[in-house]
Amino acid sequence: MSIKPIRTCIVCRKSEDSSALIRLTLVDGKVIPDVKGGAPGRGAWLHRDCVESAIQRGSFKFAFKQTSAPDVSELINLLDNK
Ligand SMILES: [Zn+2]
Repeated sequence: MSIKPIRTCIVCRKSEDSSALIRLTLVDGKVIPDVKGGAPGRGAWLHRDCVESAIQRGSFKFAFKQTSAPDVSELINLLDNK
């Protein structure tokens, strides 16, 4: 029996198995989906369905402890590719 990693969605604060969430990292001021996993740096976890709310609320500014809102264009591309 293995212990699954549990992460908390930054938007709805629900705890989930990490496989149910997507990991985002901040690279050069841009929020990038960590699709392969294991990218270095501070990560934020959230449900795919919560991405839009996160963008609207400016949640990434707080999640990544930034003074201004990070660039979310890569994330918007991800949403457009649904
Ligand atoms: Zn969520």
